[in-house]
Amino acid sequence: MLRNSVYMEELDAFTYREKIADEGMVLIPAGAIEQHGPHMPMNVDVLLSRTMAGAVAQEISAVVAAPIVYGYKSQQRSGGGSHLTGTTSLDGATIIDIAKSLTLEFADHGVRRIGFVNGHFENYQFLYEGVDLAIRELKKSGVEDMKVVLLSYWDFVDDATISELYPEGFTGWDLEHGGVLETSLMLHLYPGMVDMSRVDDIPPATLPNYDVLPVRPELTPDSGCLSSAANATAEKGEILLKRASAGMAEALQNEFRM
Ligand SMILES: [Zn+2]
Repeated sequence: MLRNSVYMEELDAFTYREKIADEGMVLIPAGAIEQHGPHMPMNVDVLLSRTMAGAVAQEISAVVAAPIVYGYKSQQRSGGGSHLTGTTSLDGATIIDIAKSLTLEFADHGVRRIGFVNGHFENYQFLYEGVDLAIRELKKSGVEDMKVVLLSYWDFVDDATISELYPEGFTGWDLEHGGVLETSLMLHLYPGMVDMSRVDDIPPATLPNYDVLPVRPELTPDSGCLSSAANATAEKGEILLKRASAGMAEALQNEFRM
């Protein structure tokens, strides 16, 4: 138990209450248990969304809620697909319910400023829907001042940073699954959890611009990654963490007029 932790689950309840009293802000990380190739563990999206939220929380004195560990189903065009054994996902309705329940729970604690820090591409619209339903319900019961901001951390990596970190060319965030972005962040934050000798250095996946159900497994590279992580470095990870967390902190400060 740490009284000065930004992570809610490490706090005693008395300290937590002090931190959220008087317009406190709660950041909810949303991850996934999803294969990330042979070189990284399946909790990458949990670790990165939680750590990103922690870096933001330190800058703007927010509390980071315990993360949403499971995510929405991995899509073939952005995460390799749910057919890859290991990837363990929730139905969309379940994610909606979790986002709604958590928004209502923190509202019940008196919190009126919430940020969802998303680390798994496929979660976003379901989080959005859950928050929308919660706000509608809160309004009906007379709570008019709840405000929620939804952010995906890679949206805060600007074009200048992209050209700096991808001199060889950028293939887009959807193909970044298990690629340079996530691997660099993991090398910076959790180096012991990355094995660069197991990176499959292959060209970016070529996927159609539509979805097929059930998926055609042969469209996903054998590694499960959609682009190569060979150019990932801890230095790039440090830059990505700094830029993305600063961008998110600024957005939250603007939205909540801090
Ligand atoms: Zn990921």
